[in-house]
Amino acid sequence: MELVVSGVSKTYPDGTRALNDVSLTIPPGMFGLLGPNGAGKSTLMRTIATLQEPDSGSLHLGNINILEEKHALRKRLGYLPQDVGVYENETPETLLRHFATLKGVSSASKREELTDALLERVNLQDARGRKLGGFSGGMKQRFGIAVALVGDPDLIIVDEPTAGLDPAERVRFLNLLSEIGEESVVILSTHIVADVRELCTQMAIIQDGQIIFEGSPNAAIKALEGQIWEKTVSKDTLSDHGTRYSVISTKLIGGQPVIRVCDQERPGPAFEPVEPDLEDVYFTRMAEDEYARSVKAGAEDMA
Ligand code: ADP
Repeated sequence: MELVVSGVSKTYPDGTRALNDVSLTIPPGMFGLLGPNGAGKSTLMRTIATLQEPDSGSLHLGNINILEEKHALRKRLGYLPQDVGVYENETPETLLRHFATLKGVSSASKREELTDALLERVNLQDARGRKLGGFSGGMKQRFGIAVALVGDPDLIIVDEPTAGLDPAERVRFLNLLSEIGEESVVILSTHIVADVRELCTQMAIIQDGQIIFEGSPNAAIKALEGQIWEKTVSKDTLSDHGTRYSVISTKLIGGQPVIRVCDQERPGPAFEPVEPDLEDVYFTRMAEDEYARSVKAGAEDMA
């Protein structure tokens, strides 16, 4: 079963154009939707999840016309929103039973079985009767996965899941996500490149409401081989390098700025060739003025 998004556009009443003619075909497996904050990811996720309407375009999950058969879609959907904190006073077991009822699991013993299995799967058996309000960020996210898995969905949407998790919680959470069945379409929406790199076989990059890349992370990285160059520069010359070279990213390593440039040939003295990574793909796919702005902002931050 595939998710097909065709020509979806959305402009908010204040004039913000959040989605501009977005088309995507998303196969089963883990799909990464990567983009900076404000790119339109949540708008697209909420539209797919039938939580809001686009101005134009169409969306299909297999045979289901999402905009016309919202109810049918919701039955097949598992949605893990950015913030699962609205149920602070409830316990995981009460909520899982409740969501199972909503998904049409009418037998009480089946609901109990499902609740037990899901709590075990996300390793929250011991916390089953505790209020969500006292959970750590990682526990809340794991609970969110359990909720998303109720009803064995064909489409699972995970919106910005690792923001706010500490590194150990993040790894645990990503491992759990990677175990979700490969028959479902799983969309991981994130601004964190490493999340996509670690989990997704297919991806798209969205910026300013437009899809600027769609394909496999590995192929995109391979395509940049021999074109990524790195140089450690002084803080004083950072801005100068930004204007002379097409700098795609700047990092501080041990307090020292290290720039990366994408070029067919060695761009200048002291540049060393390095292996491309998904961040290079992400940044090279961004518009030229975006590089200039970020380098300028980086230089000002360090000044
Ligand atoms: P992302 O999830 O990638 O951060 P969003 O879809 O949340 O992006 O936002 C896309 C753009 O739409 C942003 O400019 C954001 O400020 C704007 N936006 C989001 N929701 C609303 C809203 N309800 N009303 C007006 N503008 C909105």
